[in-house]
Amino acid sequence: MQTLIEQLTHILEPSALFLGDDISEKYHADWSGASACAPAALLKPKTTEQLSQIMALCYEQNQPVVVQGGLTGLAGGATPLSGEFAISLERMNAVEEIDARGMTATVLAGTPLQVLQEAAEEHDLFMPLDLGARGSCNIGGNVATNAGGTEVIRYGMTRSLVLGLEVVLADGTVINAMNKMVKNNSGYDLKHLFIGSEGTLGIVTRVVVQLQPKPLVCHTALCALEDYDSVTKLLTELKRSLGSGLTGFELMWDNYYNKVLEVDSDLQNPFGEEHHFYLLVEYKDNETALGAERFEAELFGHLEAELLSDAVVAQSHQDAEEFWRIRDGIGELLKALGPVSNQDVSLPIADIGVFSTHLETRLKAKYPDIGVLLFGHIGDNNLHVCAYTGREEDKLLITEDIMSMIGEYSGAITAEHGVGVLKRDYLELSRTPEEIALMKTIKKAMDPKGILNPGRVI
Ligand SMILES: Cc1cc2nc3c(=O)[nH]c(=O)nc-3n(C[C@H](O)[C@H](O)[C@H](O)COP(=O)(O)OP(=O)(O)OC[C@H]3O[C@@H](n4cnc5c(N)ncnc54)[C@H](O)[C@@H]3O)c2cc1C
Repeated sequence: MQTLIEQLTHILEPSALFLGDDISEKYHADWSGASACAPAALLKPKTTEQLSQIMALCYEQNQPVVVQGGLTGLAGGATPLSGEFAISLERMNAVEEIDARGMTATVLAGTPLQVLQEAAEEHDLFMPLDLGARGSCNIGGNVATNAGGTEVIRYGMTRSLVLGLEVVLADGTVINAMNKMVKNNSGYDLKHLFIGSEGTLGIVTRVVVQLQPKPLVCHTALCALEDYDSVTKLLTELKRSLGSGLTGFELMWDNYYNKVLEVDSDLQNPFGEEHHFYLLVEYKDNETALGAERFEAELFGHLEAELLSDAVVAQSHQDAEEFWRIRDGIGELLKALGPVSNQDVSLPIADIGVFSTHLETRLKAKYPDIGVLLFGHIGDNNLHVCAYTGREEDKLLITEDIMSMIGEYSGAITAEHGVGVLKRDYLELSRTPEEIALMKTIKKAMDPKGILNPGRVI
């Protein structure tokens, strides 16, 4: 009888099936780097049909698989567990169609987000999802994790951008739900089962997304504030005055801001004095001159009313990029800090200020030499917490402290990075036993043998 690998060689060409030392280390772990492990085999299908045949064989022979997109995930979800086959979607990479009238894009799941963004721009359209990992993360990975990013305050998470999906189920069945319509209430909207399911219910192979008109202008400002109450007041004011033009509201605590500037000496601090909070505000519009005036007048009004302590409006694209480099400096920081408990949590917006003070006090009482860095997409309730002592053995204990406080404040253990493997044991802090039981029922119904991303999420 042929082995599974021999059978797979009839489906995949030799350059798409790798074993042993031929598997590059790139496929051993996601961006978190946690628990790296070589997969038992690496498969790179080119078509949905190939993938469907692979899954039918794996299902028949109880072979567990892990799905890999761009491997920028931070929850360990795409990292192989011992004995798993890794299925990389990287060869399923193409923007199949931009429908300029219907403002939709049809794209293969292994397409990097940035490629889709650029294809939309060529048609004067806008793909309203953006994150620091844009060059490497795939649209399939974005769907699987329901990725958020920096424009959620205006356009919502990936879930709100997806119109249709094609998915291969654990047993190889292909679900073609490539809907292009906003309104379609013909039965259950099955795409929502797969969005955010982190590859546990099916493998996303093609996606239809809703595009938007490309905003003509973008205004960016870096602001300084002294207390969290002013931050939430400003958010309410800007939502009211700028309406849907408000596309970014990124808050940095002084601990994060000062550390980024300390680690990356190329970055410039535009403020002469120290402040408690720094805020990156972005406003996108289709009115050119009027938009700039409106934005500056709005910020000036808040300076006069002393809600803001200071503000600098970017005068060029380069200025705006400099501001964003401070916000996105976390990538470099993580490399410089050594072992870090890097958490992405959600809380009701009014509680974030109290929570952050409470968290810092509690962690410092336990670990006097701890560093705590706070920042996040506050307009979407999302707080990023990086806490480090420099000692590997403290990392898990610090994570447990942060997670248990999230439970106390009725927050979410993950806002946008997903549960994967790294957060799985904390799920009950954010979900009721009945919710978790229903998740398990759905998983059992769709993947009764448990071969698809086993041990992730639940
Ligand atoms: C510098 C940096 C910045 C980031 N910023 C953000 C941010 O602002 N917002 C945010 O939400 N995330 C952010 N992330 C996390 C990450 O980029 C996102 O989670 C992204 O959506 C993952 O996509 P990926 O293709 O890399 O997926 P992978 O890491 O390959 O996989 C992630 C999960 O999805 C599953 N999966 C992947 N592809 C498929 C598929 N086709 N079908 C089914 N399951 C699949 C995997 O099995 C795994 O469980 C950031 C990461 C980095 C490194």
